[in-house]
Amino acid sequence: MAFKMRAMVLERANDPLRKRLDVAVREPGAREVLIRVLACGVCRTDLHIVDGELSEAKRDLVPGHEIVGTVMAVGKEVSRLVPGDRVGVPWLGWTCGTCEYCANGRENLCNRARFTGYHLDGGYAEFTLADERYCFKLPAYYSDSEAAPLLCAGLIGFRALAMAGSGKRLGLYGFGAAAHIAIQIARYRGQEIFAFTKPGDKEGQNFARTLGAAWAGGSDEMPPEHLDGAILFAPVGALVPAALAATVKGGTVVCAGIHMSDIPGFPYSLLWGERALRSVANLTRRDGDDFLAIAQKANVRTTVQRFALEDANMALDQLRKGLIEGAAVLVP
Ligand SMILES: [Zn+2]
Ligand SMILES: [Zn+2]
Repeated sequence: MAFKMRAMVLERANDPLRKRLDVAVREPGAREVLIRVLACGVCRTDLHIVDGELSEAKRDLVPGHEIVGTVMAVGKEVSRLVPGDRVGVPWLGWTCGTCEYCANGRENLCNRARFTGYHLDGGYAEFTLADERYCFKLPAYYSDSEAAPLLCAGLIGFRALAMAGSGKRLGLYGFGAAAHIAIQIARYRGQEIFAFTKPGDKEGQNFARTLGAAWAGGSDEMPPEHLDGAILFAPVGALVPAALAATVKGGTVVCAGIHMSDIPGFPYSLLWGERALRSVANLTRRDGDDFLAIAQKANVRTTVQRFALEDANMALDQLRKGLIEGAAVLVP
């Protein structure tokens, strides 16, 4: 049953993705499902991979780890999914299940983890294969393209929110796909949001206000009140001392991206007072289940900009330039 499909392929870092019409689709392995892709979100991590800032990508990679699709065929040992199910495939594609991290509920840190659209081919394609144990069933509440950004932007934002604590005033640095979802969950929980964009990005600041930000301004500004916690979605190390300076004693600053430019030196007084600085890495399946349940309860809506699969390079370029409001989604 092997056949060929259309896909956008990363042949070499820093080159545009190549459109191919002849990518072989193999039969699903024992625990795998074959999925027809209906939509695939474009994440900033894809940009880091394409730009060579993350260096473990497989050869001839099909990027994309916010995949919404329909199960077409299942492997011999698949027990959770049947053909016709609509599923989401996230970044976490496989874990070992036996290491110390996996054994104590921290599979996001598994040393042998394999990630979708990085170690494994992803969703910038007509079809993809995924291990059923890492797929999520998606609530009918979301259309295909609306659901796509939930699968990474939403999930990582959700994990970062938990780590930033439940203090009243929360800062979000970088107001893209992840922040536009995180703000809705945070407001549902009763938090007040302070949104920081690139200096001068009035459109981004207005977008944050339409989603209920109490204040929106440039990342070079101090918020009108100190923050109880902050999340950095922008991959800009220089924002770390800025966020610490804007945060109260005992507050936590969370770096939510997989890659960040170097953090400049800063005086210890910015960290003093029991401020905490930490990163958030990947996701667990538990995060996915918890997040998808709360997203629907909180009536989270996503703003998406759709692109044809063939226009993946354009979508990546617009993301790089900060021109996407909400999330970019590829539709094959
Ligand atoms: Zn493991
Ligand atoms: Zn992502």
